[in-house]
Amino acid sequence: MILDIGFETMPREDLEAIILRRLKATIDRVYANVPFYRKKFDENHITPNDIQSLEDLKRIPFTKKEDLRDNYPFGMFAVPMDNVVRIHASSGTTGKPTVVGYTARDINTWAELMARSLAAGGATRGDMIHNAYGYGLFTGGLGIHYGAEKLGASVIPVSGGNTKRQVVIMTDFGPTILTATPSYALHLSEVAEEVGVSFENLKFKFGIFGAEPWSEKMREEIERKLNLTAVDIYGLSEVMGPGVAIECHEAKKGLHIFEDHFIPEIIDPQTGEVLPYGETGELVFTTITKEAFPVIRYRTRDITSLNPEPCICGRTHIRMNRVSGRTDDMLIIRGVNVFPSQIESVLMEMDEVEPYYQLVVDRKDNLDTLTVLVEVGERLFSDEVRHLQDRERKIAKNIKDYLGVSAKVKLVEPKVIARSQGKAVRVIDNREI
Ligand SMILES: [Zn+2]
Repeated sequence: MILDIGFETMPREDLEAIILRRLKATIDRVYANVPFYRKKFDENHITPNDIQSLEDLKRIPFTKKEDLRDNYPFGMFAVPMDNVVRIHASSGTTGKPTVVGYTARDINTWAELMARSLAAGGATRGDMIHNAYGYGLFTGGLGIHYGAEKLGASVIPVSGGNTKRQVVIMTDFGPTILTATPSYALHLSEVAEEVGVSFENLKFKFGIFGAEPWSEKMREEIERKLNLTAVDIYGLSEVMGPGVAIECHEAKKGLHIFEDHFIPEIIDPQTGEVLPYGETGELVFTTITKEAFPVIRYRTRDITSLNPEPCICGRTHIRMNRVSGRTDDMLIIRGVNVFPSQIESVLMEMDEVEPYYQLVVDRKDNLDTLTVLVEVGERLFSDEVRHLQDRERKIAKNIKDYLGVSAKVKLVEPKVIARSQGKAVRVIDNREI
């Protein structure tokens, strides 16, 4: 097994030549095969030939999440469906998911990048990886899985949930690497403690955590409680899935972006102006090797900054700092993306529910909880308690069915939720991040 690790320490000049060549090939392909891009180029009087330098990329308009939604489900694919071997999806702003596809070569590229990520995060082929990311439409589980196999490590596809059984597996199998969301990692440590298992006696060396925002404070806590070195991994399904960027375990200071596959930019989310290194703004990605679902200047809505300083690990790839937030009000609850507007559409489908609601996010026992407070009409509220509870259960079920996230629903009397003079306060986030 030979990974393209050489790319990671390549002199910038050589790397940039490869990036430009790959970019131009990608632009040619999307122009030829994706009507959305062809139209955008034509409208802006740009031809693929106009892109002759990395600087020229700035001339191309951005791609937004709404563009993916408008072309739902497969309209952004650049290859015939015959060539697509895998489909993943994530929740979108209207309840319609964002759909992404992969060719066989894309799956191989992804596995390769995940293997490189795991290696950067401290894993070797001699390691056993306890993969507690969810398997399914979500890219986390399968992304890590294929990368672990590519690396030659042993992977335990334990997925999320069934925490006590996970503790038994961790104890009996002796995995050395843990992959999970940071909050689930903490929950694992808690359940382990409950059943009398100490992480001191387990064999974990490294933990690779992502898919939700977490802080340095959280890292310290995880490292202490789980007795391992914790690194941050970044990715999103629209760009590939996990493995777009990862911290090296040597520095643990910013995530190296795999620039031989992805071009990052930071823009001012209001004006779209490209910002210099070090300035904080919205992260934008262009993929330069993907076949089925290439994206050009895709606005991630994640807020961060780029750091071009050399790193002690020897990698020349640029680093992005920890994602500090989103340009919109998206919530990430246990790894699931939830927009208040999605909850709103579920609520507004119910009879007798008023358009006054509030989402309260908290972290209990290290797991994120979502409580939805919603006002109901006077009549329903003065009805029997049993009816109210039925209604609460029904709304919770709809939220779970549509958005894939568990929520506690609490119906409240009219006028209980504070009215705002300006922008409504839809979210109260009590999590300490
Ligand atoms: Zn490094």
